Amino acid sequence: MTVQAPVPHPHRTGAHLQAGSDALKQAAVATLAEQGVQWTDLRETVFDALAGGSSGGGAPVSAYDVADRVSAATGRRIAANSVYRILDLFVAHNLAKRVESRNAYVVNVHPSCSHDCIFLVCEDCGQIAHLDDDKLADGMRSRARTAGFTPRRPVLELMGLCSACNGAAQTGNA
Ligand SMILES: [Zn+2]
Ligand SMILES: [Zn+2]
Repeated sequence: MTVQAPVPHPHRTGAHLQAGSDALKQAAVATLAEQGVQWTDLRETVFDALAGGSSGGGAPVSAYDVADRVSAATGRRIAANSVYRILDLFVAHNLAKRVESRNAYVVNVHPSCSHDCIFLVCEDCGQIAHLDDDKLADGMRSRARTAGFTPRRPVLELMGLCSACNGAAQTGNA
């Protein structure tokens, strides 16, 4: 039995790559190659749709929105099933993360290292921010193990207000 455990290492924000950047795409291609998985044209189109897009990568994207973006970019329809398959592959190989509370996906800005990402989900504007805190995540995993539970994948999502929306709420009367 293998238990997936994140390798503890310091991870500064500076180590994160910009969503939609060439550097991130190159890291994603390299990560797949290391795992012996092919980078196909369709996978690239789906990756671009997830990483870029009009929203600039700040909000998670549903599989249907990815399919729409792919259709807009290529001029042909892509089946939602194909998109789901590719997104699942991306998640399995650390290229994308699922934001469970939104039933949507974001590109993983650190494809070459494994973390239990913590997502801060703004309930107002839908933007998400991303933190890594291995101490917190490992603590949760080890408490679970103590309780006789085998943790596989913590879902760490915090609902609330981003600083922009919080500022608007405090200055406005709404
Ligand atoms: Zn992370
Ligand atoms: Zn917000």
